[in-house]
Amino acid sequence: MNNLSESFNSTILLTRDKPIITMMEWIRTYLMSRFPHLREKLSAYTSVVMHKPNKSIYREIEKSGNCFAVWISDGMFEVTQGFTMEKFIVDLTNHTCTCYFWDLVGIPCRHVVAAINFEKIPFAQKTTMKPLKSSIEYSSSLLNPKTEKKTLILK
Ligand SMILES: [Zn+2]
Repeated sequence: MNNLSESFNSTILLTRDKPIITMMEWIRTYLMSRFPHLREKLSAYTSVVMHKPNKSIYREIEKSGNCFAVWISDGMFEVTQGFTMEKFIVDLTNHTCTCYFWDLVGIPCRHVVAAINFEKIPFAQKTTMKPLKSSIEYSSSLLNPKTEKKTLILK
């Protein structure tokens, strides 16, 4: 959240000395022009997962090489990490791992990758990552001035 606010503050640096209405109008115009640009950039992206999460997934896949999964029950695995011999419980049904990386970040950890490889199930089928197309549809519904209804309340 701190990074987001710092980025926003640096963007509005040009108009921070303006009156509040002028500054708000500049921010509105900036966002209105930024969203279609990002939507267009996103629509040209062909992968199912965005670049940074995809990079994280590949890093976890590489690091899963020293993890050994043992099947416990339906969707449950005990994964032993090779060098440290730490043990983690992965529940593919409830999308949890006892290292909590999957819960906190939303990207499957190396233990989950090891469990998925043990089951030999396609990776995208067992993860909770949303396909990219749904985020494009969501972003196109934001701040669409043609469909926006304005109501004026007089007191
Ligand atoms: Zn884990």
